[in-house]
Amino acid sequence: MTEFDLIARYFTRPARRAALGVGDDCALINPAPGMQLAISSDMLVEGRHFFSDVSPYSLGHKALAVNLSDLAACGATPAGFTLALALPSIDAVWLQEFSRGLWALADRHSCELIGGDTTQGPLNICITVFGEVPRGCALLRSSAQLGDDIYVSGTLGDARLALDALQGKFELPADVLAHARLRLEQPAPRVALGTALRGIATSAIDISDGLAGDLGHILKASGVGAQVDIEAAIHLIAACAHIDWPKALFERQELLNTVFSGGDDYELAFTAPPTARGAVQAAAVGTQTAVTRIGVIESEPGLRLVDAQGQLITARFNSFDHFAR
Ligand code: ADP
Ligand code: MG
Repeated sequence: MTEFDLIARYFTRPARRAALGVGDDCALINPAPGMQLAISSDMLVEGRHFFSDVSPYSLGHKALAVNLSDLAACGATPAGFTLALALPSIDAVWLQEFSRGLWALADRHSCELIGGDTTQGPLNICITVFGEVPRGCALLRSSAQLGDDIYVSGTLGDARLALDALQGKFELPADVLAHARLRLEQPAPRVALGTALRGIATSAIDISDGLAGDLGHILKASGVGAQVDIEAAIHLIAACAHIDWPKALFERQELLNTVFSGGDDYELAFTAPPTARGAVQAAAVGTQTAVTRIGVIESEPGLRLVDAQGQLITARFNSFDHFAR
């Protein structure tokens, strides 16, 4: 199989929304009038972002999911994506499964593959997504307001639980591991919630590097601080909701670490004024996405954690940084 056979067989389908898709030197897209293009890239590197034995189906899913999560955080509707792929060799079974995972998620979000690049090399997957958002309506990190409520979608910490268990740090019951592993390997980007929050949320970010670090980006960009209720946050550990998982496994600090700096969650953290509580609730119900209010924006810079009694607690979390370790 040649490079071009490979592209034709696994990564070419007729263009639907795009004016021109795979096959020429450039793809062409026509943004609808009044819309801005939202663009984001994320790269997955073998050994760095995934284990070499992860299923290619999951990898196809996750490579696109982490990108769609960025569109979700901006309140953008997915339109298309490009795929730059370095492959050690042409493995038909791998390619078949990888593309199946990729197409399944792409179709779920009507996001079409419009081009890319394919080369031989160490396994590396880089996707760039394009989305549309009405002019001026993108959700940004920089506009959280004093007094805003702070919310988190879905649940946090599962991906980290799965990662730690897979690395042998502890054992999880099979059903808990299966659930957590799905969250690690096939995260569901919160696209519907993101677009439903347009005009409601004052700021948003997707939690890929941990709540503490990512919420910290909103605080810094907005020039504000926050108080977060750790009891509300700890209940975000997924598993608490519907799995009888072994809490005894963790000391409190470890629970906090998992929730606040676990990473790979792909949930949304966002802010909205208290007057918008009904609208946030409606957006959550309308998109069938759980949303939890965990804190409030304050003027004093920094992130303060308080317990159920309102007492400040001290804890330090490291946001994931590729160059920090
Ligand atoms: P160029 O020589 O201009 O870089 P290529 O020969 O790399 O173009 O690619 C040929 C066509 O196939 C282009 O339209 C490109 O966008 C598309 N393409 C290449 N690799 C991929 C891929 N992995 N997925 C989707 N489209 C791809
Ligand atoms: Mg090329």
